[in-house]
Amino acid sequence: MDKIKIKDLEVFANHGVFPEENVLGQKFVISVTMYTDTRKAGKSDDLTQSIHYGEVSHFIKKFMETHTFKLIETVAEKLVAELLKTFPLMQKLDLEIKKPWAPVGLPLDTVSVEISRGWHTAYLGVGSSLGDKKGYLDGAVEALKATDGCEVIAVADYIATEPYGGAAKEEFLNSCIGVKTLLTPHELLERLHEIEQAADRKRLVHWGDRTLDLDILLYDDLVMESEDLTIPHREMHLRSFVLEPLSQIAPYKNHPVLHKTVMQLRSELEND
Ligand code: ADP
Ligand code: MG
Repeated sequence: MDKIKIKDLEVFANHGVFPEENVLGQKFVISVTMYTDTRKAGKSDDLTQSIHYGEVSHFIKKFMETHTFKLIETVAEKLVAELLKTFPLMQKLDLEIKKPWAPVGLPLDTVSVEISRGWHTAYLGVGSSLGDKKGYLDGAVEALKATDGCEVIAVADYIATEPYGGAAKEEFLNSCIGVKTLLTPHELLERLHEIEQAADRKRLVHWGDRTLDLDILLYDDLVMESEDLTIPHREMHLRSFVLEPLSQIAPYKNHPVLHKTVMQLRSELEND
């Protein structure tokens, strides 16, 4: 991807673990590499099609001056998130914060922290089989929209489906939601659990009836397995109530393990 860089922007600010640092302040030197597509701006010669590096520089200076954190790790994390949320053309960002006057008491050039963060695309499965099912699905979409570092990019039509897995008895209402997110897979799962809990979900019977179930189906092209999280979702290719709504919002998305598109998985399941 194309890059726009700002190198060694100097800012005077008050971050540091020692109280003196928060009062006296010191110099911070910041570099960023912004990953974006410069093609359109390159052809049109139009600044509004690109990231305005002047605005970014002033944004960084203002952020640095109007906050006080102990750790430059925290400064970097928060600043990167604010930049990614404020400048929509930035897809990914590398940011380095150097502290040339760090009070270490030894001769050194600089200490620094460098991090890379960016937007991820995740697809979620959502279902409800108890109470105001449409209300619970609408509520899940609203809760995701209200989540810091999450943007809802697509919601499939809600479909009524037969109970699945044996333990559930009621008809389900299902859908899929596409999100852009700054959250890691585990942070996203934790947020989904909070949203489920807020919808009066009780984890009584595994696979039983529930007010709200939110699953991570896909997260970029990530393949991972841990004790409490498997991505892609283990059963997604076997469930028509997942593949039907998902093929509406992401028909050509590739399953990174099965190497088939959502549409292919859907037609294979239907033909079985
Ligand atoms: P199910 O969704 O299978 O009907 P639950 O919603 O009760 O059942 O999920 C049980 C557990 O499955 C969750 O607590 C979570 O830790 C784990 N899990 C593993 N992979 C995923 C995933 N991709 N999305 C959501 N939960 C997952
Ligand atoms: Mg679940």
